[in-house]
Amino acid sequence: MNRLEPLTRTTGAATAWLLLCVVAAFSTNATADWQSSQRDIMGTRVTVDLWHPDATAQTTCSERVFSEMRRIEALMSTYIPTSEISRINADAAISTLEIESELADLIEKSLYFSDISDGAFDITYASVGYAYDYRKKQQPDAETLARGLPAIDYRHVELDGNRIRFRHAGVRIDLGGIAKGYAVDRGIALLADCGISRAMISAGGDSRILGDRGGHPWVIGIQHPRDPAGIALRLPLSNTAVSTSGDYERFFIDDGKRVHHILNPKTGKSAEGSWSATVTGPDAMTTDALSTTLFVLGAVAGIALIESLEGFDAIVIDHHGKVHYSSGFEAPESES
Ligand code: ADP
Ligand code: MG
Repeated sequence: MNRLEPLTRTTGAATAWLLLCVVAAFSTNATADWQSSQRDIMGTRVTVDLWHPDATAQTTCSERVFSEMRRIEALMSTYIPTSEISRINADAAISTLEIESELADLIEKSLYFSDISDGAFDITYASVGYAYDYRKKQQPDAETLARGLPAIDYRHVELDGNRIRFRHAGVRIDLGGIAKGYAVDRGIALLADCGISRAMISAGGDSRILGDRGGHPWVIGIQHPRDPAGIALRLPLSNTAVSTSGDYERFFIDDGKRVHHILNPKTGKSAEGSWSATVTGPDAMTTDALSTTLFVLGAVAGIALIESLEGFDAIVIDHHGKVHYSSGFEAPESES
């Protein structure tokens, strides 16, 4: 069992980190053999922390991670008109396309998460999702929503090996709910190849820890969903992946309603019912997809899904602020 620490407030020193929805609280015994580097990739701040006695090796290894993540971004970003995913969105409703097998694999995994969640996770959310711009506070009008909604259905995606076709006009896909976790896993694999045995890679809400922090677990803070300067819970974790999806990441308020970036595929509107969902498990691709999935499913159905999967645990904060735990976590003493 993992014991959770009670709800605690942080002080000013940690504020910068709180921009991320998962926050690493550094232990005090960090030595010169730890190196931390950051880059902005895939629309988020990527941090690589790694332990190695040799400074040159540290830099070489973290640079490998960053270039791998840039490669994945170039393949999977819908913001890059020349990316493979943009080509699919432009042409797959017109004819069958042969695509990169790496992308085909990730689409296949995405369809699996749709299957086990009754469509709560659905990469075709983008058929409507493209019409949101959270920075410009834009959302689809009623007509755009009505036109796009029939195109949201993962069963419109026909995948046969590396051949893809959309069975419905207007379908668009976006891997924003799974690609960062996948990229983090690729980064961790590269670090392991580099001879690194202790590291953490974080990309926004998705992190994976290799080994521990030198005899101690890493302490991962889950942001308080309604207090940007607060930590809701702290999780001591080693050798695991952890992802958080929250409605405070990208949002604007319209007429008193929070419009955010995780959509309910059934309505084409922001999913309601959760403030945040955190999932732990062996790999970040899966925890990434599942944190988005649980956010959409809500606490009760979400925790039930997690209990059916071997090796995964979850914490869902519902829209009343109540914290729900799967059986692998033990609630803080003050709550139990
Ligand atoms: P982030 O780490 O970017 O906050 P999350 O893992 O919380 O990402 O997932 C949110 C992202 O997933 C959105 O930005 C969007 O790209 C995509 N998304 C939104 N709704 C869904 C959905 N119902 N199914 C799959 N992906 C989704
Ligand atoms: Mg996710």
